[in-house]
Amino acid sequence: MDEIKEKDKKYIMGTYGRYDLHIVSGKGALCRDEQGKSYIDLGSGIGVNSLGWCDEGWIKAVEAQLERLQHSSNLYFTSPGALLAEALSARTGCKKVFFCNSGAEANEAAIKTARKYSFDKYGAGRHNVITLKKSFHGRTMATLTATAQERMHDFFFPFNEGFIYCEKDMDEIKAQKNVCAVMLEFIQGEGGVIPLEEEFVKELFKWCEQNDILFIADEVQTGVGRTGTFLCSEQYGIKPDITTLAKGLGGGLPIGAILAGEKCEKTLGAGAHGSTFGGNPVVCAGANYVLSRLDEDMLKEVRRKGAALKASLEGIKGVKSVSGKGLMLGLELEKKKAADVVKECIARGVIPLTAKDRVRLLPPLVITNEQLEKAVSVLKEVIEG
Ligand SMILES: *Cc1c(COP(=O)(O)O)cnc(C)c1O
Repeated sequence: MDEIKEKDKKYIMGTYGRYDLHIVSGKGALCRDEQGKSYIDLGSGIGVNSLGWCDEGWIKAVEAQLERLQHSSNLYFTSPGALLAEALSARTGCKKVFFCNSGAEANEAAIKTARKYSFDKYGAGRHNVITLKKSFHGRTMATLTATAQERMHDFFFPFNEGFIYCEKDMDEIKAQKNVCAVMLEFIQGEGGVIPLEEEFVKELFKWCEQNDILFIADEVQTGVGRTGTFLCSEQYGIKPDITTLAKGLGGGLPIGAILAGEKCEKTLGAGAHGSTFGGNPVVCAGANYVLSRLDEDMLKEVRRKGAALKASLEGIKGVKSVSGKGLMLGLELEKKKAADVVKECIARGVIPLTAKDRVRLLPPLVITNEQLEKAVSVLKEVIEG
């Protein structure tokens, strides 16, 4: 075993079951391990490296900011965050943005916004947040509680109050009391790449509107072009009150954001929330560059590549179904175990992910047709073999 793997095992807490792969460098959708072996990336570091590894323009943008100013705190004005908020507003129609550093933090901010929105208007008691079974919203205490998966609710007692877990069932949802918000993923990512039905989402959205319940879209995984539109909500034809973003937004640097619509743009005022690192200029410079690249042409390519990839995966014997949208796809397998498929693929130079019992694909948005074809042929060998 190489030295780094040994040090990692000795000194880093064992919270992650790592694959036997030590990545040392990358370019686009290709990376190399410590022995120089090349791999095609179908995971983007879990949906983060939207422009792939070490994109030249992105490096330039980040380096240019790094040479000017690395951090100033939120006590003062800096340009990258203001420009990023403007760009996000132009892309989504949101009114105000709050920046933080991760998906969980973005969801925390969304939950706080919803609770305060309701408190300001209706007083105490209307604090419940409905989340959907199989959801994933993060690892902090509140977002872990929001995550409606029983296997996540061990050890860390007591969990936060005020979360209600529902099936994707309007009757069950409508029966809940004292609700300030519904929080959901349009495509449940960690839950197995499971898209919500359009009809359900529309009905839920209408119910939220009618009852002044905030609709929070957790687009930490689906956002920033991943599903072929800038936000996945566009494909459902709705405008959530709050959208949370993180993973793909910074192109590889840690950033989270909440996008607030009209209803709650003023809810979090001075002193109500904050983050020391939130809106960091270097990170925002990276995100600004990601947005500058993610134009309608690139989104069209994501849709085209996604559709082609889905079709070729559906042609593999042993694949029962393919779920997802754009370049966020899940493979339901007939016999093979997803974890085994991923291990075998890595041994053959392709890096997919898992989500529950499915193989999950989140390739960099810039992956080439040739790379996709090669990766599919390896997946085919492994799944059919
Ligand atoms: C990854 C993810 C999160 C958590 O993001 P972190 O940056 O790991 O805190 C939250 N929601 C969804 C939908 C995610 O995919």
